[in-house]
This record gives sequence, structure tokens and C-alpha cells, in this order.
Amino acid sequence: MDLFEYQGRDLFERHGLPVLGGGVAETPEEARAIAERLGGRVVVKAQVKVGGRGKAGGVKLADGADEAQARATDILGMDIKGHTVGKVMLAETADIAEEYYFSYLLDRANRTFLCIASVAGGMEIEQVAEEQPDRVAKVAVDANRGVDQALAREIVAGAGFPAEVADQVAEIAVKLWAAFAAEDATLVEVNPLAKVRDGRVLCLDAKVTLDENAGFRHADHEALVDQSAVDPLEQAAKAKNLNYVKLDGEVGIIGNGAGLVMSTLDVVAYAGADRGGVKPANFLDIGGGASAAVMANGLEVVLSDPSVKSVFVNVFGGITACDEVANGIIQALALLEQRGEQVTKPLVVRLDGNNAEAGRTILDEAKNPLVERVDTMDGAAERAAELAAAGK
Ligand code: GDP
Ligand code: MN
Repeated sequence: MDLFEYQGRDLFERHGLPVLGGGVAETPEEARAIAERLGGRVVVKAQVKVGGRGKAGGVKLADGADEAQARATDILGMDIKGHTVGKVMLAETADIAEEYYFSYLLDRANRTFLCIASVAGGMEIEQVAEEQPDRVAKVAVDANRGVDQALAREIVAGAGFPAEVADQVAEIAVKLWAAFAAEDATLVEVNPLAKVRDGRVLCLDAKVTLDENAGFRHADHEALVDQSAVDPLEQAAKAKNLNYVKLDGEVGIIGNGAGLVMSTLDVVAYAGADRGGVKPANFLDIGGGASAAVMANGLEVVLSDPSVKSVFVNVFGGITACDEVANGIIQALALLEQRGEQVTKPLVVRLDGNNAEAGRTILDEAKNPLVERVDTMDGAAERAAELAAAGK
């Protein structure tokens, strides 16, 4: 989960990192009130989860509350790289003398953590790395050792931070690592880490990504989720404990096992390419022991997606035999009807594996006009794509 800058700023503050006072506003009036509280000059910053806000005109200085309100009016509602600005952060301004770059991230390729630091901050680090690679230090961080004073000194020396800021940057390096580890982050990026005229080094931007897999350890992280950006179908699926990801096609997909579901997405996309370009509408893995209730929940979420025109239920019987799954599907449709859901979209069901024949017989005998049985994965994908194309 990516955080907004203001959330990252708060997180930094909680972990004792040097940040400037600030607040977040959704209206120009709120922005004005914050500017009054902060007093004097403020910076008004668009809160969107994308970089390069400065260049896009999303970061503006303001002299006093009137101007802060005016700048907030300009920035709120702005479009930055496809993101509409719904919030602005206001912060005390800094009189910047130098801009540096500092980050920790999970380095998946090398199975470790990495510190990237540079005295050439402010601009995009990818550009610095390309044009002036010798000005970017990359230091591996061992998860067990973390960043102690000694490693912090190594980073400071490696990146060539000037002597007069070395102590401050080393202290920030240690604290930022502590924050990174304590919060189970996969990225913390400070760009710019700025030296201001009075000699202090401050974190003037905060880009933080938290590891959702560690969410169970952080009750407070839930509150950081941007509810306005959560897909309502994904939210409904999450409430039902389903592994569901919304995609943008027309063929609803339900399968058992993540690998099978992923390959189902592939065969449907392939079959759909020749049939009006229909694509999978979602990923949904109902897992191994899929009961009728789980199948009903899955069908309910998939069928409630207005872009879904047909559904492909692809099941390979393993521990849960196909006859149980077939019964589950029939019961699920009955359950949905009882819940008052009008099921009108066609279902293509492919059953294979353990007790496939018995499962197929159950489907045939149920004679549900919406359920069509196709016994091969490719054949079923083609039929589901065809039905979706016809329903478009
Ligand atoms: P980004 O472009 O999305 O990374 O947004 P930043 O928060 O990094 O801001 C972009 C640039 O605005 C920075 O590199 C600074 O040069 C400038 N900036 C940000 N905050 C301040 C501030 O308090 N005072 C001044 N003078 N400039 C600032
Ligand atoms: Mn920045």
C-alpha cells in the first residue's frame, strides 16, 4: 500500500525524523485555516500517489493564509498524470540550500534490502542514476543487522555527503531504517532530503510503501487505506474473504487454485482476442475446499460486476471432488435466488479431475438453462468468450 505524502510525513514524525509542521486539507477554507495555524510562508502540495508533482505544478509556495487558500483552490481538482487531486498538504516552508536523495527499499532481485543515497536530489533518481551514476551510492542492508551507526557512516561516505551534514544524515539514516523496519515498509524515499539555510537537514518529501502482508501486525495501518480509491467489488470480495482482483474485461472467472485461475485468465484472453477482443473481468480463486456457500459468495461478487457478460467456472477436482463442486454450483445458484439475486448471465462450467464424470452428471441432471457444460479448458474458454461477445 502506497501512502500519501502527508501520511508519510506523519509516520516520519512519529519515528522522530526531522520534518516540518503541516496539515492536510480537502477544501481551500481548510487550507486557509491550516496556513493560519502554521503562520507565515507555507508550501501547498498536491496529494497524489505519483511522483513529479513539483514539475506538474502541484507544489506551490504561498505567502500567508490568503495566498495559501488561492493556491489550494488552484491545486485541488487538478489532474496530475491521471490522478485527480482531492487533498492538499500544507507545510511550513524551508529555505532550501541543497537537495539530496535518500531511500531504503526491498531489493527483490538480490533478496536483500537496499539503501540508495545521492547528493544530487530534487530530481528523479532514475535520471541521476543514468546520467551521473558515480553520484548515486547503493549499499545493501542486511535484514538482521539493519542500519547501525557504522553502516550509516558507510552510506554517508559512499554517497559523498558534505562533512557539515554528515552527522545529521547518519542520524537520519539510522532513524529512517528503524521506521522502515518497525512499520514493515517496502519503500521509504525522501526526495528531497534538504539542507536548509540554517544548517539543518530535513525530510521535505515522504514516499512510503507499506507491506500489506504484514498488515496483521499493524492494526493502525488499516486507517491509512484511501477508501475513495478502493474498488467496491474488491471491497465486497474482501468482506467475504475471497481472493478477488477486479480486471477490466467481460468474462467473469472463478477457479480453484491460484495457478489454475491465472492460466484461465490466459486462455480466456487468447480465446477472446478472436471474439471481439473480450477479456477476463476478474481473478477469483475460491481455493481448495470450495463449499456451496463459498461458491455462492464468489458468484455473487462476479455476477454483480456490470461488465461481466458471461462466467467461466473452471474447476480441477483434487481434495474437493468434482461432484461436490457441481452440487456447490447448483446450490449456489439456488442460494442466490433465495437471496433475491436475479441470475441472468450464462455460466460455462468445466469440471475435470477427481470424480469429474459424477460432477458432470449432476450438472446435466440439474438442467439449469444458464449452466452450460464444456469439458475442456480451451473449449470452455472459447464458449465463455463467445457468450460474452454476444452479450456485449
Ligand atoms: P515531487 O515533485 O512530487 O517529488 O514533490 P516534492 O515534495 O519533492 O517537491 C518538489 C520540489 O518542490 C522539491 O524538490 C523542492 O525543490 C520544492 N519544495 C518542496 N517543499 C519546499 C519548501 O518547503 N520550500 C521550498 N523552497 N521548496 C520546496
Ligand atoms: Mn519529491
